[in-house]
Amino acid sequence: MAILSPSGPRSVSVLGSTGSIGCNTVDLLARNREDYTVEALTGNRNVTLLASQARDLNAKLAVVADESLYGDLKDLLSGTDVDVAAGDQAVTDAAARASDVLVAAIVGTAGLRPTLEAVRRGTLVGLANKETLVSAGEFMTQEVAKGGATLIPVDSEHSAIFQVFDFDRPEGVASITLTASGGPFRSTSLADMASITPAQAVAHPNWDMGAKISVDSATMMNKGLELIEAFHLFPVKATDIDVVVHPQSVVHSLVNYIDGSVLAQLGEPDMRTPISLALAWPKRMATPAQTLSLADVATLTFEAPDEVRFPALRLARECLAAGGGAPTVLNAANEIAVAAFLSNKIGFLDIARVVQMVLNTIQIAPLCDLDAVFALDHLARVRAGEALTKIVS
Ligand code: NAD
Ligand code: MG
Repeated sequence: MAILSPSGPRSVSVLGSTGSIGCNTVDLLARNREDYTVEALTGNRNVTLLASQARDLNAKLAVVADESLYGDLKDLLSGTDVDVAAGDQAVTDAAARASDVLVAAIVGTAGLRPTLEAVRRGTLVGLANKETLVSAGEFMTQEVAKGGATLIPVDSEHSAIFQVFDFDRPEGVASITLTASGGPFRSTSLADMASITPAQAVAHPNWDMGAKISVDSATMMNKGLELIEAFHLFPVKATDIDVVVHPQSVVHSLVNYIDGSVLAQLGEPDMRTPISLALAWPKRMATPAQTLSLADVATLTFEAPDEVRFPALRLARECLAAGGGAPTVLNAANEIAVAAFLSNKIGFLDIARVVQMVLNTIQIAPLCDLDAVFALDHLARVRAGEALTKIVS
């Protein structure tokens, strides 16, 4: 466990502060100004929002990943004490600066190097950026063990399991169950799925999230990525993680014990609850999340996932079983396919098709080190580009 400030406010850095998780984190920090100071905030391109967050929270440093926007950010923050930097390396350097807590909320493997940097300095890391664990889970967990960092999952399902898993007596755990909302197309026929537009796919029924994870939820690749994420976070076998569709998103996930007991964590779907746990760990903090009223919710339903209409979930399960570089390839190919879908280059059902095509072209082998992860990630992106060309032509 990292050594946190014995007294006084905690310092926090937020990678991806301009995104959905980032803005929810900033909201909590703004509501608790006496308890937190802000070390660094980073964003990709939205300098207006980044500058206003940095000003408002009196951050020591604001970093924009897109180097061409350095001048704009500098102008927006002129007359303040906020230091300004730009570029990918500056984002990683920001993660390396001392802070009690770092919230990793960049989307995709763009977050891998900076998140690793935070893990290596042995701090408390609130991990939203699941792609980093999917792509490089083995190495990330090795670094956690070496550097003494504490990973607090921010993904709502993993936060739920983290809260009800008996880490001191894992032999009592039989399995874990991740809940899935089923996304906006839970009941859509395969035939109708072919014409789903990006606008329809990003409109999630229960959660307001960034575009990439919204599409992942719609294809159920998100749940597939979460299966792999759970495998790296909790001491369970790959075959002891299952998924149940629960459209109300009230039961956030469950741990099944060998005596037949099932422990679950419930709450209104509000990401500020899991984010707050990372910010306050091992304490809890009050959040604006509504109090759950089960009487008002009245009905909770559960059903098995349909891996025929949602092949991405099956692909992810197969990659988890295959191990080695398979999840790295899955994740990279999916990032390219989702970006192509969002820019109207391919159809909704082509996303899983591209991922399958890429998996078919790459011989899966164990990964020896992080350089091998980056090389395989790159190869999978190249192959995904080739697969896109075949689909489009
Ligand atoms: P988002 O798209 O809203 O925000 C992403 C953030 O990353 C932004 O600040 C953006 O500027 C930054 N970013 C994007 N590309 C970058 C790059 N190349 N270099 C540096 N910064 C970059 O996404 P989000 O919904 O906030 O999701 C963030 C992460 O949290 C994802 O991994 C997602 O799977 C995970 N997550 C999100 C939710 C949610 O409710 N939004 C829930 C669970 C997990
Ligand atoms: Mg989730």
